Amino acid sequence: MQSEILRSSPVTPTFDLDKQGVQHGFLRLPYSRDDSAWGSVMIPIAIIRNGSGPTALLTGGNHGDEYEGPIALFDLARTLDAGMVSGTVIIVPAMNYPAFRAGTRTSPIDKGNMNRSYPGKPDGTVTQKIADYFTRELLPRADVVLDFHSGGRTLDFVPFAAAHILPDKVQEAKGFDAVKAFSAPWSMRMLEIDAVGMYDTTVEEMGKVFVTTELGGGGTARAETVAIAKRGAMNVLRHSGIVSGHPIGRTGVAPAEIRTKLTGLLAARHFPGLVKPGDCVAVVGTVD
Ligand code: ZN
Repeated sequence: MQSEILRSSPVTPTFDLDKQGVQHGFLRLPYSRDDSAWGSVMIPIAIIRNGSGPTALLTGGNHGDEYEGPIALFDLARTLDAGMVSGTVIIVPAMNYPAFRAGTRTSPIDKGNMNRSYPGKPDGTVTQKIADYFTRELLPRADVVLDFHSGGRTLDFVPFAAAHILPDKVQEAKGFDAVKAFSAPWSMRMLEIDAVGMYDTTVEEMGKVFVTTELGGGGTARAETVAIAKRGAMNVLRHSGIVSGHPIGRTGVAPAEIRTKLTGLLAARHFPGLVKPGDCVAVVGTVD
């Protein structure tokens, strides 16, 4: 048997993906063209890491004319502090960055529909190269994956979060639990008519927990749907144990338990009862 040697990705991040703390930078993809002979596509990426907990990969702009995801994720990348995180949050607000800049569903470079280009090719088109980088470099790092969509210019949806009906029922249940935690006004169980080439399919075949959304559309965004996206992203991070707190906005979700590693006396607790990420919830005094 002959084994194929897989080409390495031409994409390089502008910072060390494994560094602790908050990093803002780009995924640099060389793209030689008329107006920039040695130019590159620079895809914004932020990584917020604190310790060795689970990893969430949050993406928007898979289609370039869907705005709730990018707005919520550029905002989250700016405001999420490493102190609020136990684990890692990888944020790519505009996955198909050329399409996002053009405000179109597909890439103006190669007409690539990102969500029909997976798992991608390291020596393919620009869109396929981005997909390949996600498949081989970013997705293997992730435990939970949230990909924001809206209707784009040609559809307008009621705002919903969704997971797929899957052959693996344990994985399916985890997906629906995360959808429930997202707490969109509507939740959907989806079965694709043609799942080949979708980011969703690649993520699910790797066994990851996957949540997608459709939050409005019409090639625009509303404050109300952006707020749903922001709240949903934080709720999925809380649900995954990456950000502490309890997803509120829906009944029937178990409260998060906070356990101290110390033995001692509960010397103080937060008042009033409602806490937010970053609060001191309790003080434990050790006895000697
Ligand atoms: Zn979409």
